[in-house]
Amino acid sequence: MTDARLRTCPACGHHVAVPFFDGGEQPLATIAWPESASQAGALPRHRLDFVQCVRCTHVFNAAFDYANVPYSTKPNLMFNRATAWSEFIRSLQERVLARVPARPVVVEIGHGDASFLAGLASRRPGGRYVGFDPHGACGIHGDVELRAELFVPGAHVAELSPDIVVARHILEHLESPVAFLQAIAFGAAESGRDLLAYLEVPCVDRLSRTRRTVDLYYEHSSQFTTRSFTAMLEASGARVESLEHAYDSEVVAAFATLRAPAAHLEVARQSRDYLEATRRSRETIGRALRELAADPGGVAIWGGTGKSAAFMNRYGCDAQRFPVVVDSDRSKAGTFVPGTGQEIRFRDWLKEHPVRTLVVPPQWRAADIVREIRREGIAAARILIEHDGMLVDFLAGDHPYQRPEDAA
Ligand SMILES: [Zn+2]
Repeated sequence: MTDARLRTCPACGHHVAVPFFDGGEQPLATIAWPESASQAGALPRHRLDFVQCVRCTHVFNAAFDYANVPYSTKPNLMFNRATAWSEFIRSLQERVLARVPARPVVVEIGHGDASFLAGLASRRPGGRYVGFDPHGACGIHGDVELRAELFVPGAHVAELSPDIVVARHILEHLESPVAFLQAIAFGAAESGRDLLAYLEVPCVDRLSRTRRTVDLYYEHSSQFTTRSFTAMLEASGARVESLEHAYDSEVVAAFATLRAPAAHLEVARQSRDYLEATRRSRETIGRALRELAADPGGVAIWGGTGKSAAFMNRYGCDAQRFPVVVDSDRSKAGTFVPGTGQEIRFRDWLKEHPVRTLVVPPQWRAADIVREIRREGIAAARILIEHDGMLVDFLAGDHPYQRPEDAA
């Protein structure tokens, strides 16, 4: 008997969580803005089904759905105006500016009312302060440039080469904050540089100890502990320079350097190679198949499902040009190739209706099929497999699927 739930942790990506807080159903708490008592009472209610990641202690609402949270144009300013908070912001701005060049490029993700960026700009004129927030303030104000768009790591890291990326009270609103940081780290690696980040989120370390529940409302679907914040940084490959708590430990923050390992770039390079090669081979093999279809000697495709079906669908082996599909498996006879529609025949059909060319899509089975057709006395002048972007003669060609004992 287990109460484990399969839910992907937004912070660390682990997949096992356990029930943490059953909050029943509640209306949106901060952004509903009802204008009358009756409207307030009639607000739709949403399920609070908070679970906790067993690996990193992150707390999140398993029943959360973004569709239920309309974006608000009314930023919550009350917290920002508190005196202790202002003091924290002032000292933070100094620490940010202490880490960047004299004329820095600072990017803030989710700038809201832009007070943080504006504060930096007034302390250090002459820099470039760029904010990204689809629902925040926008326009150009001196050194401050506010874009009403999402920050796209792959594009904007390269475009702006920021000296620091700031994300305050944003990560806890993302569906996958760890994915976002990984994307920034990858963007930094692609730009060939380390990228300093300042990341700050509310912290609920005291939740378990104090048994308080008021943090857990619908808009706050994802709640960091120091441990889950650290796990997220670790999972994004960040090198943490300093981890700190603020505001009586209700906030956890870090300066960290993001840059994905070179090995990730190498995988990306190889992926692009494969992608390009397979784009080209679609043409090359398509052309070879057009020639084959016109061969009066006839052609058959061996195998009617799985890899063979994938081959026929990818290269457009339609039932008009390639009507003959056979299979070693008698039980498949009389069924049809998914997508292209040829009736699949048992391989013995070829004894009465020989063809000059056999195409064998599953390369690794070709050696067995060669043995099978020799044993059964099925004639075929050549057997073709797909290899390195071409159709290659299995017996005479150069490829890694031939076993010495099968040669000639
Ligand atoms: Zn986790």
